[in-house]
Amino acid sequence: MSKKGYYGEFGGQYVSESLMNTLAELEKAFDEAIADPKFWEEYDYYMKEYVGRETPLYFASRLTEKYGPKIYLKREDLNHTGAHKINNVIGQILLAKRMGKTKVIAETGAGQHGVATATGAALFNMECTVYMGAEDIERQALNVARMQMLGSKVQAVTTGSSTLKDATNEAIRTWAERAEDTFYVIGSAVGPHPYPKMVKEFQRVISKEARRQILEKEGRLPDVVMACVGGGSNSIGMFADFLEDQDVKLIGVEAGGLGIETGKHASAMALGEPGVLHGMKSYLLQDKNGNIELAASISAGLDYPGVGPEHAYLRDSGRAEYVSITDTEAMDALMELCRMEGIIPAIESAHALAHAFKIAPTMSKDDIIVLCLSGRGDKDMHTIQKYLNGEETNK
Ligand SMILES: *Cc1c(COP(=O)(O)O)cnc(C)c1O
Repeated sequence: MSKKGYYGEFGGQYVSESLMNTLAELEKAFDEAIADPKFWEEYDYYMKEYVGRETPLYFASRLTEKYGPKIYLKREDLNHTGAHKINNVIGQILLAKRMGKTKVIAETGAGQHGVATATGAALFNMECTVYMGAEDIERQALNVARMQMLGSKVQAVTTGSSTLKDATNEAIRTWAERAEDTFYVIGSAVGPHPYPKMVKEFQRVISKEARRQILEKEGRLPDVVMACVGGGSNSIGMFADFLEDQDVKLIGVEAGGLGIETGKHASAMALGEPGVLHGMKSYLLQDKNGNIELAASISAGLDYPGVGPEHAYLRDSGRAEYVSITDTEAMDALMELCRMEGIIPAIESAHALAHAFKIAPTMSKDDIIVLCLSGRGDKDMHTIQKYLNGEETNK
């Protein structure tokens, strides 16, 4: 970071005056927490005893035999609640507790971050309200039921398109009014500084483990490290400890939906239009007048019209490469992993897999790919069945 809170020209704090003090308070508390070994001791305790870390770095031998390079899967799908999101939620709620907050709020689209936050809130006895677009509440009934079972309130948002972008605006607005006793748990590496940095530090555990694991197994670093990119939290966590290893190629995979050319996709970086959304400057999906466009993907978790600012910077600086995978390519890869390795991945994670299969022919047998399997597919069974029946799945 050059200027405070900036990654090159991206990032920053594009929020109302009333939130500036709140962000300053948060930044101070975060900086103190991450410098305190006691804080990390507690974080590590919950990662191990509650989340079930460390997660395996699994050598996918049948995929390797078929595709060529050695393929290792970082099994974030084995975490409690089924994905990487819990790593970040536990970190943020521990910070909230440390700051003396008694309530948490969160935004959610597909409901995965909402469920993770409701889980953490139950664990730490915090009152929790999750903001969710009315449209999404209808589409994601099962996750709404989960959050309610866990004791959280799900607040319907009916502004704008009644989806994630609007739920996020509502959460930010609420936070500005209630920051005294309320902590806002953001679900991806997005938002105003210090959120992108904070989410990265809490997801860094993915690459911290994976780097050690691959050195143990192969005695050297991988050639390629890759992950899917929605807002960019599992990918920045997967990249973090490899950023300084210039020989390790980093690849982020965005959702190409029905194809970039159709306009129905979620690849915020494909067209490269910077703008301001949710308190940050980054690449966004927007029309010629700067209006935010709806993202479209078969995968609800990649359906965000922006991307975290550090990814925008990594793209422009050339340190990481970003590509797109279509719905069809992702679903083919999902079925391939089911059949070849007995693992049903989240549709999000299948996007990264699809790109691994694509580049495999250009690599040698001795090359090593480490891929973040961000989550499990249980939550996607309904969508997968609809897709296999030929019904419409890209919204
Ligand atoms: C939410 C989610 C994603 C996308 O979010 P990032 O912040 O980009 O990681 C990817 N995979 C799974 C399983 C998810 O639940």
